Amino acid sequence: MVMLQNGKTILRCIIQKKDFLCGIKRPLHHFRFPKDSTYINGKWISAKDGSIFPVSNPADGETLAFVPDCSTVDLDEAINGAHDAFKEWKNTTAKERSYILRKMFNLHMENVGDLAHIITAEVGKPLQESVSEINYGASFLEWFSEEVRRIYGDIVPSPFKNKQMFFIRQPVGVAGIITPWNFPNAMITRKVGAALAAGCTCIIKPAEDTPLSALAFADIADKAGVPPGVINVVTSSRKNTPSIGKKLCESHKVATISFTGSTEVGKMLLMNSASTVKKVSLELGGNAPFIVFNSANVKQAVSGLMASKFRNSGQTCVCTNRILVQDKIHDSFVSELSKAMKNQLIVGNGFDTGVTLGPLINQHAVEKVEGHVKNAIENGANLVIGGKRHSRGGTYFEPTLLTQVTKDMLPFCEETFGPVAAIMKFSTEEEAIEIANSSKSGLAGYFYSEEVAQIVRVAKAIEVGMVGVNEGIISTSEAAFGGIKESGIGREGSRYGIDEYVEMKYICLGGLN
Ligand code: ADP
Repeated sequence: MVMLQNGKTILRCIIQKKDFLCGIKRPLHHFRFPKDSTYINGKWISAKDGSIFPVSNPADGETLAFVPDCSTVDLDEAINGAHDAFKEWKNTTAKERSYILRKMFNLHMENVGDLAHIITAEVGKPLQESVSEINYGASFLEWFSEEVRRIYGDIVPSPFKNKQMFFIRQPVGVAGIITPWNFPNAMITRKVGAALAAGCTCIIKPAEDTPLSALAFADIADKAGVPPGVINVVTSSRKNTPSIGKKLCESHKVATISFTGSTEVGKMLLMNSASTVKKVSLELGGNAPFIVFNSANVKQAVSGLMASKFRNSGQTCVCTNRILVQDKIHDSFVSELSKAMKNQLIVGNGFDTGVTLGPLINQHAVEKVEGHVKNAIENGANLVIGGKRHSRGGTYFEPTLLTQVTKDMLPFCEETFGPVAAIMKFSTEEEAIEIANSSKSGLAGYFYSEEVAQIVRVAKAIEVGMVGVNEGIISTSEAAFGGIKESGIGREGSRYGIDEYVEMKYICLGGLN
C-alpha cells in the first residue's frame, strides 16, 4: 500500500481519520499499491531514479502520501509495455472487453465510499460531490461496456460488379491520456473507458495534485483482469511533466493523445503532436455564458446557476463564468441569487457534514480568483457578497457575488475557476448573443427562457459545443461532451466518444467475377 511518512497506509489514514470526522464506518477496500509505487506494465514499481513527490490535502495542507516522480526513462517502460500489450489487446473480442469494463464498473460501485474519500482528500470537494463523481465516473465504464458491442463498420454498395467494399473501424494503438485534478476519477474513466472499448492500450498521466485516484483506478483495473501493459499510470511532478508530455506527443509508438486541461497546455500538445501527425482530442478551458432572459422562471434559473456555478467550488470547465441577466428581471434575479448563496453555500472541509463549498485546489488558484475580483471592483463592479480569502485561511475563498460587471473585466474575459458569480445586465437578445459569442472559448453555455421561438433561436446561435436550456447540469455518459473554438477538438462520452480511438479502414475485395 502507499505509505505515509509515519508508516500508516494512505487509505487507512484517510478513512480512519475522516471516518471519525464524518461518522462513516465502512470496511477498507484492499487497494494494494506498495510504497512509492505506480502501476506500469502490470507491476507496482518505483521511479528508476527513486524520486518521489508529495500529495497533499488542500483543506489543511497535510501530506497524504508520496508517489513516484517518473521521468522519461519510466515513461519509456510504459510506452513499450503498452505498445507490446496492444498486439494482443486489439485482437480480444468486443465481448471480452465488455466483460472487463463491466467488472471495472462493478468494482467502482462496490467501493464508491472509499474512492470518494480519496477524491475529497486530494481535491477538497465535499464528500457528497465526490460520491457523485464516482457514480458519474463509473457510468462511463458501464456505458462503454455496452457501446463496445456496437463498434460497427459498413458494407458499401459497390459501383463495380467484381469488387466488394467494406469499411471497418480498428483501434488506433497506444493512447496517451493526460488528465486534470478537478475530476480525478471521471476524467480518467471517460477517456480510458472509450479507449479500452475500442481496443487501445493506455498510458495515463494524472495531474500532479491528484495521482492517488489514478492509482486506485489502476488497482481496480488490475483486479478486474485488465492484462499487463493495457493500462499504465505515469505519475510525475510539475517539474517532470513537460518532458513526459513532449515524449508522449513525439513517440511513434503512441498513436493518439487525449488531454483535458488548460488551453495553453492543449495548444502545446497539439503543436508537439504535429511531428508525428498524431490523432489528438482536447477538452480545454471554457468561459460559459449563462443568460437569463426576461421570460425566464427566476427560481429555476437561480437553482440552475447555483449548480452550474458553485459545483466543485466553481472549478469545472463547464462551470458558468459570465452571467448575463436581462434588464426587467435583473434585480429580482440578483436578490434571489444572493439569498440562495447565503443559505446554501457552507464553506468548510469537504469531509465535514453539511459542507457544500470546499477549498480551492492550491494557492495559485486562490491568487487567480483574488485577482479577478480585485480587477472587477477596481473597474467599477459592485460587490454584493464575499470578495476575499475566507477566514478559515489556506485555500478557502468566500463565495462572491459581483454585479455591474462589464465585458472587459477579468471575470468575463477569462475563466475564473472559483466561487465567483459575476453578473452583467443586458437589454436585447442580440446584445446577449453578441457578448456570449465574443469569447475565444466555446465549451458549454446555458440560458433560461420560457419563449419557444427564443429557445430555438438562441440554442442555434450560441457558439458552444453544449447548451443547457433551462438546465444547469448537462454532463452524463450518454451526452457528447466537447467544445468548439479554442475549447477543444473531439467529443467524449456518448456513441461518438469511441471515434477518438478508432481509425476507419477501407477494404476493397476484388476479383469477384
Ligand atoms: P491546471 O492549470 O488546471 O492544472 P493544466 O493544463 O496545467 O491545468 O494541467 C492539466 C494536466 O496537464 C495535468 O495532468 C498536468 O500535469 C498536465 N500538464 C501540465 N503541463 C503540461 C505539459 N507541458 N505537457 C504535458 N502535460 C502537462
